[in-house]
This record gives sequence, C-alpha cells and structure tokens, in this order.
Amino acid sequence: MPVLVSHPDEVKIISKRFGQGAADIDKYIELDGYKAVQKCIEQGPEWIIAEMKASGLRGRGGAGFPTGMKWSFIPKESAKPKYILVNGDESEPGTCKDHVIFLHDPHSVIEGTTIAGLATGAKMGFIYLRGEYRYLLKIVEKAVADAYAKGFLGKNIFGKEGVDFEIITQTGAGAYEVGEESALMESLEGKRGVPRIKPPFPAIVGLYGGPTVINNAETIASVPAIINYGGEAYAKVGSERNGGTRLFGISGMVEKPGIYELPMGYNLKKAIYEVAGGIKGGRALKAVVPGGSSCPVLLPDEIDVGLDFDQMAKAGTMLGSGGIVVLDETVSIVEFALRTIKFYQHESCGWCIPCREGTDWLKKTLTRFYDGGGNKKDIANIQYLAENMMGRTFCPLGDAAAMPTLGFIKKFRHEFEAYLEGHRTEKHFITTDELIGAGH
Ligand code: SF4
Repeated sequence: MPVLVSHPDEVKIISKRFGQGAADIDKYIELDGYKAVQKCIEQGPEWIIAEMKASGLRGRGGAGFPTGMKWSFIPKESAKPKYILVNGDESEPGTCKDHVIFLHDPHSVIEGTTIAGLATGAKMGFIYLRGEYRYLLKIVEKAVADAYAKGFLGKNIFGKEGVDFEIITQTGAGAYEVGEESALMESLEGKRGVPRIKPPFPAIVGLYGGPTVINNAETIASVPAIINYGGEAYAKVGSERNGGTRLFGISGMVEKPGIYELPMGYNLKKAIYEVAGGIKGGRALKAVVPGGSSCPVLLPDEIDVGLDFDQMAKAGTMLGSGGIVVLDETVSIVEFALRTIKFYQHESCGWCIPCREGTDWLKKTLTRFYDGGGNKKDIANIQYLAENMMGRTFCPLGDAAAMPTLGFIKKFRHEFEAYLEGHRTEKHFITTDELIGAGH
C-alpha cells in the first residue's frame, strides 16, 4: 500500500481527496465530487474546451501536449462513434502517480472522462489499466458500477434527457509498449500491442476507426478539479505555459520518498532537498533522472531548475512522467545504465529494426563491459548505437532507450573509462524498493 506523504509546499488540487476514502462514491460526492460534470452539462462543449485551454493543462503522460487543444481537434461531425481513452498503462520505471489516483480517487477519473465526452461529443469512454495494476481493477470497476447505480453514467445522466455516457474498464497484459497511444488502441481492440503508423492521428482515425481522445489518467483526473477551480485560476498556480500542479514521484536515495503534488515550475533542487528531505544518510548526490527512466540524467550542478516541460527541455532533459529518481554517490552509473537498457531491451516490441537490434546490442555491449570484458572502443560503440537509434524508430521507445544511454555516456564518460581501469564505484544496486519507494 502506498504511504501517503505531505509537505507544506504542496498545493493539493488533485490529491486533496487522497486518504479520505473517496473511492466510495458517497464520500466523493461529499467532497465536491460530480459537481464539475453537472456544471459542464449546463455550460456545453465550447465552454468546457475554453476552460481547458485557459487552464494551460498539458498532458501528464509525458508528451506535454495542451489538453484543450487536443480535445478541439476532434471533429464535430463524425460518421463513426467518437471515444475517450484513458491511458492508465503507467509503466515507466520510477513512476507510480496514476496508481495513487486509481487507488484513492477513481471517481475523479470517471468524472474527468465524462467531461471529456461532453466536450467532444463522445458517448463512450475506456479506462485502460496496466496489466500489473490488475488489483486496482476491482476498485475502478466498483467505482464505475456505483456511478451507473447513481445515474451518473449510462442513459440520460444526472437526469438530463439525451445526455448519455458509458464507461468500460480494461487491463493490459503487462507490456510497457502499450503505453504508446496507438499501441494502446491496438491492445484495446484485442490485437498485439504494437504501434500504428501515423498519420492518421487518433483524433481523426482512432479506436475502432473513430475519432478518439487519448489522455493520461492524471490528465483526466485533473479535469474536474480545473472545472471547479476555474481554468484561469488553475493556470496561475503553475508557471508560464505550464498550468496548474502535477504529481511528482520522488524516489531513489532520498529520506522521504513519495508522491507530492507541487506547482508546475517548482524548483527540482528544492523538491529533492526540502520536500523529499534530502539525500538518504547525508550522502552526496551523484545524479538525478528527472522524469522517469527515459529522461537524460542531470548532474548535481544542473538541478537548480524549474519542474515544467519548457524549463526541463532547456536543461537538456525532459519532465516526462514526473518520476524523479535520485542517485547518490554510491551508485555505479555503468550498472545503472545497464539496468536501464535491460528494461528497454526487454520491453521492445521488436517491430522495427533500430529499436529491436539497437537495444539488444546496447544490452550485450553494456553487459560485457559491466562484467569486466570491455575495452575503450565499447564506449564509442555504445554512443554510436544510441545515436543511430534516435529518431529512427516507429514509436518513442527507441528514443526512450537511446536518450538516457547517451546522457550517461556524455556526462559520466570518465566513470566508464575509469571502470575499464578497475576503478569501480562500490557495487550498489538501486533496489526495487528504492526505485518505486514513492508509491509502494
Ligand atoms: Fe516496437 Fe521499439 Fe519499434 Fe516502438 S521503437 S515499434 S517498441 S521496436
């Protein structure tokens, strides 16, 4: 069970119901639940999309695409049914924020999905949970059933004639790849979870060929809060072009790992040293992976930076999924790089050659290097392999594997070279507990 943490700098907008039993529909209603959707029924689609645009909400899955704009791409008229697809296939190492939403506040996802349907004219939504979150399915299914029983889902919702919305839940089989939106649709349609070639984009040809909005679970859970809070007021909480708050999972070697809701643009250094209590045992900081394992690593002197999509990009990395992994001085970067690439090699769906072969060769080379059979040429070869994967794959997984590898080589080349000469950082596997300590 996740341990709930708290810090005075948090601004609890989407986490305000955590720990209050809001998975129960009556408690959710008591805590202002299902008010936003009723307001949206009264106001209509154009008003909803205007509020979302004003909020500055950008996709919390990692891409950071403006949500209001995404919704506005859905054609008003469509011969095929339109759909809302909630991406709860949270699989990026270091990330477990959607998990706590499904556990503590599943109705916010149901309410947000319904509002997305009202805004776009979709009459059906799917909530897709990652395979490993199967145990959360009962909670989400019960929440959906309770919403139907109250008349909040189904025909004539909230007693409004002609306003219909259905929700279906689904789980994956445990593949990272289906977190990619087109692979997610393939999986939901019962096919092998590999990506589709784009264009066409899901807003035009999506699930079952119909126009489809695909949003991350945290993005969708933010929607009712934005409607209640007001789009403009929500935007002001965050930084420029990055409205509101987000759930940051701070894990690894910190004193107080956990999921913290902080304003967009909050300083990363402060998040580590003040919010998460600093480096465990008073040891020195070595590196930070700031937004899930696919993000290029930052050095200690690079972390005085704001946690939003634009500032992180300027710093040469990404905000990603908001999973901040903190590594102290005892971590071997060679070992960490190997563990990272092992994950991506295992999760590569094998559909395109640069990713399938590239991750495999990277794993083989790094394994031999780590086991003591490396030579100087390997460092250049690792860099060459990763550079040649970048931008040459069907889906972002290829880049997700290459980017951290390039970051480790660029910023820790000296450590790879020293490793060849027998100077090795004390063997210190970052344990599974440390990596996911934020949520489990
Ligand atoms: Fe599959 Fe990797 Fe190609 Fe994506 S990049 S389609 S995961 S092989």
